[in-house]
Amino acid sequence: MPKQDTSIFDPERFITDRLRAIDASGIRRVFDLGAQLKDPINLSIGQPDFDVPQAVKDAATAAIEKGLNRYTVTQGNRHLREVIAAHIGEEFPALASGLADGSLGTLITSGVSGGLVLALMTCVAEGDEVLMPDPYFVMYRHLVTLTGATPVLVDTYPDFQMTAERIKPCIGPRAKMLLFNSPSNPTGVVATEQICRDVADLAERRGLLLLTDEIYDEFCYEKNERPAGSGRMRCPSPAAATANLLLLRGFSKTYAMTGWRMGYAVGPTPIIEQMTKLQQYSFVCAPSMAQAAGPVALKQDMSANVEAYRRKRDRMVERLSGAYELTVPGGAFYAFPRVPPHLGLNATQFVERAIERNLLIIPGNVFSDRDTHVRVSYACDDETLERGLDVLLELAEG
Ligand code: PMP
Repeated sequence: MPKQDTSIFDPERFITDRLRAIDASGIRRVFDLGAQLKDPINLSIGQPDFDVPQAVKDAATAAIEKGLNRYTVTQGNRHLREVIAAHIGEEFPALASGLADGSLGTLITSGVSGGLVLALMTCVAEGDEVLMPDPYFVMYRHLVTLTGATPVLVDTYPDFQMTAERIKPCIGPRAKMLLFNSPSNPTGVVATEQICRDVADLAERRGLLLLTDEIYDEFCYEKNERPAGSGRMRCPSPAAATANLLLLRGFSKTYAMTGWRMGYAVGPTPIIEQMTKLQQYSFVCAPSMAQAAGPVALKQDMSANVEAYRRKRDRMVERLSGAYELTVPGGAFYAFPRVPPHLGLNATQFVERAIERNLLIIPGNVFSDRDTHVRVSYACDDETLERGLDVLLELAEG
């Protein structure tokens, strides 16, 4: 190979293969297309359309005024961690004793995204395999690639349940970690209690670290009994069955605090300690004023918002079911209908047609090896949703 002329400043030369291995072109293409639309009917959004509760805003503002504007300790504000430990211990008796005796720890992260980066950097590297559902939350595949580990996709079509039976044949000798996400982005599907138990059991028996991403835990429409005094929904979780897992939850979706960048991790203390060490040398801490408002957020009753989203979900299912093959989503704020086969289009082509009609949705290949479905978000006002559904019904006719 000819020697490179290093006297020419070529920014490309500085970019690592690690970053080049990540292909984020799919989602970028959708954003680019969306940016060209003047006033799109936007059903591509991954955050709630309601605002942060006033009491939470007030708590953050008061924290700023009080001077809580400095770094916090890396693991996060002690009071917030205590509140989280109490709340998780109450919801999951399986975790309560570990939280009490210190074998389980907590860490406040910069969003669940921050928790995912720390967990993957801590636990996997080149040579390891990480199992994840297909379709997957878009970050999973690319973050795993970034660590040098290999993503292994567990096919969950057509009902999008990541069952132990579907996982088993994908576990090879190098498998180390299992990413589980319920309610799911992009499908909205909620795992049953039985599935959660079986997956927890399988991970334990096969020596896999189970990471459960429960960022949509409150947006659960089927099984949402609200225990007296807890103020929070309950969604089936593998944490009800075992303490041998890493649980990630966040404030972004439940309290519409996406810009505040706050989440938390609960897991085995040795893993949490290593994640904390990495946070010290990267994110440093989650935003201080957001942490100060965290305990106030956890006390909020969000049931009216969840009810409103349940109605949007029902409306979407009611209108789309005749024209689309659709697994009824039990949670989050997404549906993942199949592009009607009679159209002879893949999802990318279908989305191009939608965009011609000013509707923004996301093609399945952004989240999947397949390009047969589209992600439709109902995190929008009712009028926008109805207009979007009108277009989807017209498109289904061809
Ligand atoms: N996990 C899932 C499944 C998500 O959908 C999202 C947000 N789209 C995240 C994690 C990250 O959220 P945040 O960093 O805002 O907490």
